[in-house]
Amino acid sequence: MTSSERAAEIDLEALRHNVRHLRDVAHPARVMAVVKANAYGHGALPVARAALEAGAAWLGVAHISEGVALRKAGIEAPILAWLHTAATDFTAGVEHGLDLGISGWELERVTAAARELERPAIVHLKIDTGLGRNGCPPDRWDALLSRAVAYQEEGLIRVVGIFSHLAVADEPTRPETDLQVQAFREAVAAAENAGVDVEVRHLANTPATFSRPDCHFDLVRVGLGIYGLSPFSDQGSADLGLRPVMTLSTTVSNCKEVPAGQGVSYGYGYRTQKPTTLGLIPVGYGDGVPRIATGAPVLVGGRIYPVVGRIAMDQLVIDFGATGLVDSPESPLGERAVLFGGADSPPVEDWAAAAQTINYEVVTRIGDRVERVYLDARQEAHDDDGA
Ligand SMILES: *Cc1c(COP(=O)(O)O)cnc(C)c1O
Repeated sequence: MTSSERAAEIDLEALRHNVRHLRDVAHPARVMAVVKANAYGHGALPVARAALEAGAAWLGVAHISEGVALRKAGIEAPILAWLHTAATDFTAGVEHGLDLGISGWELERVTAAARELERPAIVHLKIDTGLGRNGCPPDRWDALLSRAVAYQEEGLIRVVGIFSHLAVADEPTRPETDLQVQAFREAVAAAENAGVDVEVRHLANTPATFSRPDCHFDLVRVGLGIYGLSPFSDQGSADLGLRPVMTLSTTVSNCKEVPAGQGVSYGYGYRTQKPTTLGLIPVGYGDGVPRIATGAPVLVGGRIYPVVGRIAMDQLVIDFGATGLVDSPESPLGERAVLFGGADSPPVEDWAAAAQTINYEVVTRIGDRVERVYLDARQEAHDDDGA
């Protein structure tokens, strides 16, 4: 519970629970906690710290700049960054001791940075086993390996990892994952034959960590799972032993009785059928709440009400379906309104379904206007001790 006007509460004890659970699931492989995109909207630094406390061995980010920000905040654990552009500051990456994912062209940029800094770059070579995004195509893999081995002999890089990314692991019955695993094994074997001493082979994301033990190798790269969410359409968080970390809440900021036929919000997509009470919920797409999610659930006073009418930039409306509330002791004005998250609240998957998207996107897009409020049971216990 918080006094914020609008809050994404981040339950760090739930996050630690999820990391510990994923460590058990992945054992003996180790866990890389993926904290890209501001930790899927949860806050990169507090999440990184909590994940490391719970035993994550590595952190993963997309951009070097994300990794550098963690280093500058004092994070010393291994951090892998894997998505680069021509404008990427590879020098910063090497200087801050980040591990760098390499698909091909980046190798020369990274070795130039290493030469300038007189410090070897730590490199993970990425093979495209079928996703078709970055990663080295198989027909260029041997050439990449020989370039990498030559640079390693020059002392410019240290190749510590081989990795790839899966395309359909969230649909465990699809056969393509087998082909990706096979291609990955071949790429690892080729690297070993080329003289690379591979410390960490990594392929699994969250769905493969749960559904494909044969993908665990030495390290699993887990994003969604540490945030307590399920990547599978037929299983929820609890089915996987996970606890959702983010709860999005605000308060009912206005409450008014209206007659039958009252149009609600832009376009009048909704009109009341009978005299009723409307509640104003002061979050909208300017806060990252998906505009198309009309019908999604909002919990107020222990009951769920669907969003009615169009979601606007700053606000949305629910219909309490009753009259006589406004001046009564039961007036919902000021009551806590929960869109999704923690126990007894609507699951974020209901919002994802209403928005025709996936849980990943809903949490990741919650914007900066929503305060992140960190709940940390251990910290509270500590504070109580001192009080
Ligand atoms: C985002 C990402 C992950 C994490 O995926 P989840 O499904 O959230 O576990 C792992 N590896 C790579 C390369 C990624 O880009």
